[in-house]
Amino acid sequence: MARKKIIAGNWKMNMTPSEAVKLVETLKPLVANEEVDVVFCVPAIDIIPVVEAAKGTNIQVGAENMYFEEKGAYTGEISPNMLVDAGVKYVVLGHSERRGYFGETNEDVNKKILKAFEHGITPIMCCGETLTQREQGVTMDFIRQQVKVGFQGVTADQAKTAVIAYEPIWAIGTGKTATTEQAQEVCGEIRKCIAEIYDDATAAAIRIQYGGSVNSKTAADLFAQADIDGGLVGGASLKEEFGQIVNYK
Ligand code: PEP
Repeated sequence: MARKKIIAGNWKMNMTPSEAVKLVETLKPLVANEEVDVVFCVPAIDIIPVVEAAKGTNIQVGAENMYFEEKGAYTGEISPNMLVDAGVKYVVLGHSERRGYFGETNEDVNKKILKAFEHGITPIMCCGETLTQREQGVTMDFIRQQVKVGFQGVTADQAKTAVIAYEPIWAIGTGKTATTEQAQEVCGEIRKCIAEIYDDATAAAIRIQYGGSVNSKTAADLFAQADIDGGLVGGASLKEEFGQIVNYK
């Protein structure tokens, strides 16, 4: 069965709650495309107003992070139950900014992925290499390790519903999109890695996005690649341009 494309916006630390509601109002008609899954991953404080503003539309709401404990003395963290209760369906985990600025390890990401599944939240697990790693020729090994550790203990049935976002760090927020060949090569390798961990059926079902300076000009070619099932979009998800990306066809 063909995989449904999933196009997600990662708002990062942008948009106050009132700005967020305005953005949803602007984007609502522009992203009304039932052929793809449209997800807005928003800051924690925007989740409730965005869920409210998106009611009755095709927009699904995601979080940008989540903690791996159920509850307790973890000042400043957000639990899976809190996200579920607020109407969240997806959560971005292991974004390179969280790994880089906040020291998240593959093991942390794995704990979060397991917890997300336990609560019925679909993880969007980010992976991707630095420019130095690409130049050193260790991209595939590095990403394989991120995927292997990230999915430890995840069942095949769970993995089939997961989303992996391949985001080369050198392409994030730099305006430098990976070429379609580069993006396809790594996304294809990620799918192979999933087949090795699980089986062909799981590899055929899991959705793999590309992320890194996706815009309305690059989306169509990227999303036409055999192993690219949509995109995780940062900067361009905050603009009307996101509507063109969702309607890339
Ligand atoms: C991101 O951070 O997930 C991202 C892809 O950002 P941008 O599109 O701005 O490169």
